[in-house]
Amino acid sequence: MLCLGIETSCDETAVALCDDGRPVLEKLASQARLHAVFGGVVPELASREHLRCLGPLLDALFAESGLTLAAVDAVAVARGPGLLGSLLVGLAAAKGLCLGAGKPLIGVDHLHAHLMAATLGRAVAYPALGLLVSGGHTQIVRLDGPLAMTVLGRTIDDAAGEAFDKAAKSLNLPYPGGVYIDVLGRGIAPDRTLFPRPYLDNDHLNFSFSGLKTAVAAYVAAHPELRTPAMPDAVGPIDPEAWPMALRRVCASLNFAIAETLRVKLVRAMDGQPAPVASLLAAGGVAANGPIRAMLAEVAARRRVPLYLPEPVLCADNATMIAATGCLLGRAGLTHDLSLAPIPRGRKVPWDYQTAPPAA
Ligand code: ATP
Ligand code: MG
Ligand code: FE
Repeated sequence: MLCLGIETSCDETAVALCDDGRPVLEKLASQARLHAVFGGVVPELASREHLRCLGPLLDALFAESGLTLAAVDAVAVARGPGLLGSLLVGLAAAKGLCLGAGKPLIGVDHLHAHLMAATLGRAVAYPALGLLVSGGHTQIVRLDGPLAMTVLGRTIDDAAGEAFDKAAKSLNLPYPGGVYIDVLGRGIAPDRTLFPRPYLDNDHLNFSFSGLKTAVAAYVAAHPELRTPAMPDAVGPIDPEAWPMALRRVCASLNFAIAETLRVKLVRAMDGQPAPVASLLAAGGVAANGPIRAMLAEVAARRRVPLYLPEPVLCADNATMIAATGCLLGRAGLTHDLSLAPIPRGRKVPWDYQTAPPAA
């Protein structure tokens, strides 16, 4: 099944083709530079930029792949959670293509798609335990199959990505700052007691990262010399050697605090399942983080289970994961009609195709 995927849930405009879950080609335009000057995504600007970019990206996708819309078996689109205006642009485009070319429409849960990015091209052993760590979400999920997910724990306030980005903002690092914290901390021994590992002293699987953000802000307020004096140019590769050692140690310590917090709850989740967990997977932009990937590899090795991680470029938002999830849903006969509605952030995505899971 050849599936076209469209992703416009936040600040990446992306289109991709997958053939039976095998990536064919992706065209992606990031808006990061556009929003950088505001230090965060401006929803109205994001929708307008999706509108501007989507058509040319689709043209380029078909021109470069040598494929046509006629050859596509289904159109999959991220229906949420995400920014309402941004989702509407992708949904309208997908519906137009389906209407014009007579193709089935598949609304994809963006979070499900993030996790499926970890399974691309792999024969995943189930039940799997999934860690979803992104800009807006932090969840531990049990997957009894690719279409059967149960959320076991979630953040009660900030997501892990938000903790990274807000800490980076406190340090006056360029936006989006998560990747700076990761790269600047590389090769530096963390101070393991510098930051708290929040919300572990309980017996459940939820997370809370807002206190960590406050701890970093308080530490920076007490050590103002840590703040980078001016926003350095965020273009090009990051050279950790060019940054002060004291700042790099803060970054390493923050990577450690977040990775450790995730590790404790992940191990707790592995121990608490009715059937032994057969594999571990992680996804979302924060799953590109070096120390977090190392932590996951260690947990998986200790438990002797395989670890499935998306390559770093497929951790953050992309349309390949939407197209691949579309293939899964399409093969299972799960489609939507043209009344498909977007699901804004904060509202639960109705798993309409999940309530009566078909034999996959
Ligand atoms: P959601 O998927 O929850 O709706 P989102 O789509 O905005 O949110 P993603 O694109 O999956 O989130 O991830 C973006 C987040 O990942 C940002 O917070 C970003 O700073 C963070 N991030 C990206 N790379 C790294 C890294 N190497 N280390 C830590 N954080 C990172
Ligand atoms: Mg983004
Ligand atoms: Fe995302």
